[in-house]
Amino acid sequence: MEDFIKPLSDKLENFYFIEGDQRARYPYSNSMLIGDYLIDTGISPRRLKKLKKEFPINNVFLTHWHEDHISGNYLLRDAKFYCHSKDRNPIENVNEMIFLYNVKNTPVEDELNSLIEMLRMQNLKIDALVENNDIFNIDDQLKLKVLFTPGHTAGHCSYYELNSKTAFIGDIDLTKYPYYGNLDASLIEFEESIAKIKSLDVNVVVTGHRGMIEGKKKINEEIERYKLILRERDERILSFFSEGSRPIELDDFKKNNIIYRKFSAFKNFEIIAEVLMIEKHLEKFLKQGLIAKKKNGYVLD
Ligand SMILES: [Zn+2]
Repeated sequence: MEDFIKPLSDKLENFYFIEGDQRARYPYSNSMLIGDYLIDTGISPRRLKKLKKEFPINNVFLTHWHEDHISGNYLLRDAKFYCHSKDRNPIENVNEMIFLYNVKNTPVEDELNSLIEMLRMQNLKIDALVENNDIFNIDDQLKLKVLFTPGHTAGHCSYYELNSKTAFIGDIDLTKYPYYGNLDASLIEFEESIAKIKSLDVNVVVTGHRGMIEGKKKINEEIERYKLILRERDERILSFFSEGSRPIELDDFKKNNIIYRKFSAFKNFEIIAEVLMIEKHLEKFLKQGLIAKKKNGYVLD
């Protein structure tokens, strides 16, 4: 068997962790194969073709609309595709991404269009929708439950195998860069979804960009570390405010590397995403009553 295909359980057959190319670093991501159901298609075209040769893939669950999780859809056109209703549009019309990433009429619009072309992405019709707590009986042993875990995108879902207590939690990715930089993201929901995953009775988690993490204790540690990154971002943003200071505008936060401590090769994109993410923090602070919105900016409440 190819070395990127790894059995997830010694007791359960037909259940595999499928590692994305380049260790699932963007623009690739991990998948999970459960019976003839594949979760996400971003492992890389080369790997997807190899996987198809070894296993029948008749169904595909998508965790969310991001390009690095759906780019291989075109290679599985004959399969039945599932996603949450809130993520359906940008999967069926990939150009919607331009709006959701808020890059229309910026230099990043061209960059993103080139990426869509480079990944050879195609629009794909969703055949059926999934909802929170749906259960799919894959075979006698494998039962997959849908967990609605929005925030990263509006319709982001995780998938939980009940017998082995293994969860594929998509882009609650437990990396150093929690992400909620699209218009349909919500930090409030993202944090609720992280809490939902933390409360899950789970033995193994697989994320979109990290490999298998085994053991409840280790998983909890990783979740706590992930939450700490969000808290540190909260604090960096709140440190802009002081009693009696002038109102803070969104522009004041720009290019301070609040979210991205260092920009990567995708700098232009990250500058835009960072502003969106800061807005999500401000939205949370408003809801918590920490700040108030005035005509000319935000002030401490
Ligand atoms: Zn994503």
